[in-house]
Amino acid sequence: MEQYGLFIDGEYRDAKAGETIKSINPATEQPWAEVASAGEADVDDAVEAARKAHASGVWRNKSYEERADILAAVADVINGQGEALAAAEAQDGGGTIRKASFADVPGAAGTFQYFSELCRGYVDEEEFEETVPVASRNIVRHEPIGVCAGIVPWNFPMLMASWKIAPALAAGNTVIIKPASVTPVTALILGQICKDAGVPDGVVNVVSGPGGVAGERLASHPDVGKVAFTGSTEVGRRIMQLASGTIKKVTLELGGKSPNIILDDADLDTAALGACYGTFFHQGQVCESGTRVLVSENNHDELVDKMVSACDRIQLGDPMDMMSTMGPMVSSNQLDTVERYVGLGREAGADCVLGGDRPDMESGYYFNPTIFTGVDNGMRIAQEEIFGPVVSVIRYSDDEEAVRIANDSMYGLGGAVWSSDTERALSVARRLETGTVWINDYHMINVRFPFGGYKQSGVGRELGPWGMSAFQETKHIHVGEDTPDKIYFSALFN
Ligand code: NAP
Ligand code: MG
Repeated sequence: MEQYGLFIDGEYRDAKAGETIKSINPATEQPWAEVASAGEADVDDAVEAARKAHASGVWRNKSYEERADILAAVADVINGQGEALAAAEAQDGGGTIRKASFADVPGAAGTFQYFSELCRGYVDEEEFEETVPVASRNIVRHEPIGVCAGIVPWNFPMLMASWKIAPALAAGNTVIIKPASVTPVTALILGQICKDAGVPDGVVNVVSGPGGVAGERLASHPDVGKVAFTGSTEVGRRIMQLASGTIKKVTLELGGKSPNIILDDADLDTAALGACYGTFFHQGQVCESGTRVLVSENNHDELVDKMVSACDRIQLGDPMDMMSTMGPMVSSNQLDTVERYVGLGREAGADCVLGGDRPDMESGYYFNPTIFTGVDNGMRIAQEEIFGPVVSVIRYSDDEEAVRIANDSMYGLGGAVWSSDTERALSVARRLETGTVWINDYHMINVRFPFGGYKQSGVGRELGPWGMSAFQETKHIHVGEDTPDKIYFSALFN
């Protein structure tokens, strides 16, 4: 069995209490790795290492060019270890090695590469001469926050850790990452990768451990200045509460129930593929999955037929096989959740026209791609996040109603519009209350553009320059004229 310690101050170590977590391979249902499980004392050590590293200036005093070089080196090391990292990701979380090779490894490397590019020539200080309301020189500076914590989920473990580490480092912070307990391995490896690429000790720390212990300690620790969280809306609420004690900066990337709107002029062959890809990619365990497919009355039956046939081309199977396009759910818990929601859909009167059950496999938490029709947007399967391969098809009469149904959700993370008329699609896209809208596409997250949620899907944005500012404080320095004759002094002095 593979073994990993906590990565603190540039080295792997056991948890002080000697506790460990076993990571189950969801395809075999057997443990494949064992990692140290941090208690509060271990988290405190990691925060202290990050605090000392920040105070020493070993990272924040590096020039942006030096940071750019090191971030680019991290990307190179990730690419160099790409095959091993993809295999680890597949065994830890059950995502296919195909997905890990196409999405997670290049995505993680690309994130470090992008923030490296953002550092090149970065202007962290701007100057403005002003005459209003008084003559003054004004300097606006972008500075690191200090010690930042990243708490990440299990669906894209290495990529989500990279989304926190890369912008945090670009901005000059030190970081502590807490991976999800079911998929702790690649984040722990990433700690060593950062070190190998030249990141000084204490600047990147990774502590695996239970959310209720290690996560809570990080989110409430007085020396942590910012928490960047990706996970469920429920835990996001808890993070906000814990962070409020010392008014930490918070960004939250939470759940979704995203609308995938097929306008009546869409090419139905493409839209059917997009509707399935939008929901079944990575077993539906994607926060911005298009789990509510909205289709006009006249296209409904044809679209559903085409979606059902498209699913013939999905290959459910061993995630380590490059030909498999769907693997098992991440855990037996997640499988239970999916089965429970399928039951709720049936009880509510929706028609399960595909799947709804498990395939016949020797082992593994597999679930078949599942399509519900006759879904009313008020049903629980249309309002609550299932986080599995279950899509609800909902009919609408005109574009106006499609927008109304799309926005009738507590979430607002992603969504798509399919149409042969871009202007018409744009007019729908502009009216959606979501952080990302794709037109004639799905899941196309681009590191250069902001990603995040409206409503209860989150607070703040990651990626792009917006994502870097989320890891910065902004300072204004006012330089007044050196004279006692200041008009505002007269408010006090006669
Ligand atoms: P989760 O239960 O919210 O867990 C996310 C992370 O938070 C894990 O590391 C977890 O640790 C930790 N955690 C749990 N309870 C905590 C607490 N009380 N205090 C501090 N940390 C705590 O979510 P999940 O089930 O792993 O992931 C699925 C959810 O994430 C879905 O709802 C999905 O939509 C959302 N998600 C959102 C995005 C996005 O970008 N918006 C991306 C991916 C996933 P443990 O593993 O030890 O419990
Ligand atoms: Mg696991």
